Amino acid sequence: MSGYSDAFKQEVELSLSRRHFCGLIASTGALGFCGGCAVNPATGKEDLILVGAGDEKAIGLREHPKILAQFGGVYDDPSVTGYVASIGGRLAAATETPGLGFTFTLLNSPVVNAFALPGGYVYITRGLMALAQNEAELAGVLGHEIGHVSARHSAQRMSQTMLAQLGVGLLGAIVGGQSSQLAGGVAGLYLKSYSRDQEFEADMLGVRYMNRAGYDARAMASFLRGLRANSRLDAKIEGRPPGDIDAFDIGATHPRTIERVQRAVANSGKGRAGGKRQGRDDYLNTLDGMIFGDGPDQGYVLGQRFAHPKLRFEFTVPPGFALRNKLDRLTAASRKKGATIVFDAAPKPFQGSMAAYLSNVWARGARVQQLERITVNGMPAATGWVRGSGPKGPLAFRLIAIRFNARAIYRFLFAAPPSVMPSLSTAFQRTTYSFRRLTPAQVEDLKPRTLAIVEADSGDSSERLVQRMAFDAYRRERFNVLNGLEGSTPPKSGSRLKLVVRSG
Ligand SMILES: [Zn+2]
Repeated sequence: MSGYSDAFKQEVELSLSRRHFCGLIASTGALGFCGGCAVNPATGKEDLILVGAGDEKAIGLREHPKILAQFGGVYDDPSVTGYVASIGGRLAAATETPGLGFTFTLLNSPVVNAFALPGGYVYITRGLMALAQNEAELAGVLGHEIGHVSARHSAQRMSQTMLAQLGVGLLGAIVGGQSSQLAGGVAGLYLKSYSRDQEFEADMLGVRYMNRAGYDARAMASFLRGLRANSRLDAKIEGRPPGDIDAFDIGATHPRTIERVQRAVANSGKGRAGGKRQGRDDYLNTLDGMIFGDGPDQGYVLGQRFAHPKLRFEFTVPPGFALRNKLDRLTAASRKKGATIVFDAAPKPFQGSMAAYLSNVWARGARVQQLERITVNGMPAATGWVRGSGPKGPLAFRLIAIRFNARAIYRFLFAAPPSVMPSLSTAFQRTTYSFRRLTPAQVEDLKPRTLAIVEADSGDSSERLVQRMAFDAYRRERFNVLNGLEGSTPPKSGSRLKLVVRSG
């Protein structure tokens, strides 16, 4: 829950839109087209690029703080961030442009992701780090992202968008269209997906840099297998069909197939001795004690309860509703009832009463029925309901706005088909009144899960290790995914394994 407001995202998108677009045009001399045609030292190809290397650096520098804000900031442990930077540095030195100046950042986010900004800014999350099995796998991810940077894929993409935008803009001017449409296409540009060709190119370059830096390049493929197993397990836990998996995480930004990566590795090995280093021990030593899953900045899902030690509140959702922390909001859905609870913070401060906020701001334009002032554990609040519709037909929405303090308003939105709503109203009411401030002692008790590295001895049945996993469900599956294992095969005696434990 770092961002916790839509306002922030809108701001990011706005600042990426019109001003950004115009800035690029101005700085590249508008229609000076082939000013950017140059042979790329990494790919050996001639690129049409309208964005100069200096511009790329400036864009990265400007967007970097926004990425930090959106992904929970830098992970606060210099030994881990230093380790990531040293691996990145070794790979960067193996590129065609070692002087470019790369910046490697470990983000304090539980999601599994990696990406790069123009100008040499490369990011990985601690969620991704937990999933990798050794240093070489991490190097594979970093190498792939470095590949996107050195092949200047962002710059190509920006240039293509600029060309397209120029067309749209001219057309818009002729038919009197709105300039806001022109601005819209640039928003979120950097994190949008690359083409298949660009992904393949990044893989080839990543494998090249791994080999040069002495890493076992096969790790690039083994990491993708782990990623896939993780996505499948996520889908299973959330009750999504397994075919759904690529739409969700890194798969969406990186449509890469394991086979293609294996081919890239095989091709690179022809007639040359590849790297050997896997670095599992160094890697596991670094992971030992690292926060796993939600941290104090994100708040914790504890069964049906959600508690946020930084923001100091908690609430509980009804049985049968699965809580999901989406960082800017929480959702809890019951597939059986077709009902959903969404909890979030009001994007902007509001000074008036909660009833005024609910009817004039939040539900503005809708007909709010039975608007009522209430008090939730001492906090002024308001409730009302509106009719609406979802993809599967009409829905009733129960809205609750709670004044937490002068700046913060928290909101529950309960949605269910009108026929189901009466049977849920008591449960929803209970959730509303479970919202309360945490005491300092309760805050103190809320500790994150962390990774612990253990050694399997000959007497340790894997089942005993699995039982130490700090989860209510899917312990075996999580244990396997975390350690790249399958089925119930016992780990080799003496092998080192990752466990997730509750610290404190
Ligand atoms: Zn990629």
